[in-house]
Amino acid sequence: MSRLVVVSNRVALPDSDQNGGLATALDAALKEAGGLWFGWSGKVARAHSGELHRATHDNIDYLTIDLSREDYEGYYNGFSNRTLWPLLHFRLDLVDYNAMTQAAYRGVNALFAEKLAKEIRDEDIVWVHDYHLLPLAQELRRRGVRARIGFFLHVPFPSADIVAGLPHHEKTFGALAAYDLVGFQTERDLERFQDYIRLFRGGSVAARGTLRDHDGRSFQADAFPIGIDASAIATLAANASRNPAVRRMQASLTGRALAIGVDRLDYSKGLPERFRAFERVLDKHTDLRGQLTYLQIAPVSRGGVASYRALRRELEQYAGHINGAHADPDWTPMRYVNRTYPHATLAGFYRLARIGLVTPLRDGMNLVAKEYVASQDPQDPGALVLSIFAGAARELDGALLINPFDSDGVADAIAAALKMPLDERRERWQSMMQRISSYDIHAWRRDFLDRLQQTR
Ligand code: ADP
Repeated sequence: MSRLVVVSNRVALPDSDQNGGLATALDAALKEAGGLWFGWSGKVARAHSGELHRATHDNIDYLTIDLSREDYEGYYNGFSNRTLWPLLHFRLDLVDYNAMTQAAYRGVNALFAEKLAKEIRDEDIVWVHDYHLLPLAQELRRRGVRARIGFFLHVPFPSADIVAGLPHHEKTFGALAAYDLVGFQTERDLERFQDYIRLFRGGSVAARGTLRDHDGRSFQADAFPIGIDASAIATLAANASRNPAVRRMQASLTGRALAIGVDRLDYSKGLPERFRAFERVLDKHTDLRGQLTYLQIAPVSRGGVASYRALRRELEQYAGHINGAHADPDWTPMRYVNRTYPHATLAGFYRLARIGLVTPLRDGMNLVAKEYVASQDPQDPGALVLSIFAGAARELDGALLINPFDSDGVADAIAAALKMPLDERRERWQSMMQRISSYDIHAWRRDFLDRLQQTR
């Protein structure tokens, strides 16, 4: 078996208790054959980028690199989070076009390649993750790396026209052709990527998933919808009734139904639109007044980017407005919290909730949708209200699918979810749970790595 080298913007060190399903799955893959995990240390250095830190744990080498303040601003806060993130989420209106941050992004990718190339052997398998590192394979090839290199994009791939609107897009997106295998969340993302290669890269599509670059070199692309550790989450949720935080939450509901949303505070998650839809429930479905409590958990993220700070202010005001306009002395319609919680507590909250609200404007997959399903009580499962613009909608056909911009439609779906009979809830849940359990996070990483192994 080849040694595995994982590269991601952030490295999940083994002592961190915030590590989610992806980190656990990659750790398991690295342990199997021994391996190396490379990426940013999360530290901002005083002087230059590039100081390396090495640690070994359970057959895995962790190699992390510090970034200078300038690179952190340009590569991470700048081009990754102010340019690529909105672009990849179809938000042209929020894209920052900035030659300086684009140069910093390329510089950091070159620096990563410089350090990493020395570590890679020809027989290794290299797996690069996400939009921070789109040109990494090209930079590694320039430095003579011959190993197989795969890439997985965790976020959506937008339509080719949007991608081509980025100045020098080929340097960032055309560089994807240097990989041996490029993985996407859904078939749609794959199709849009194929369009881009055909229309704007001078390449061609020989067959679905078999592409040829303009120089004739061929490479593979496919959809690998990421999963969760479904059985682990189901167990956490089943045991959560003993968790004090979950018990307090349940007691506080005083028998009312709970609708839950759990999202990083990000404009792609459609939170103002969701608040508006909830307000429509209160205005339109007056029979539900006093019967439903909506809990929105939204940990603050990317506070260094202005659009995120503006969104936070907007949501604080909006939550206050909804409660001010609709609360009774003994009932507050919505609770809004900005904290993070341990996975065990979240799983318990999901299980308490009759309705899961997952209404992003765009999302590569949305793992919360799958976690909500995996956490349900099989005898009395809740209903999922899910955006058609989340990758998860392609798999979770038992959800109530909505367009998040259509507040009336979302409000009606919330009302329907609350009134849904037990038989129907069970039937819908079973089909979703079956899919989530059969293609879980471990099946996903095996699928991707087997395919990468077979290239060339
Ligand atoms: P994104 O990657 O865009 O943040 P996903 O839904 O795909 O969206 O993944 C989010 C992950 O973060 C999930 O695993 C979810 O459980 C976790 N998460 C979200 N909010 C919280 C929170 N408040 N506390 C702890 N974990 C959270």
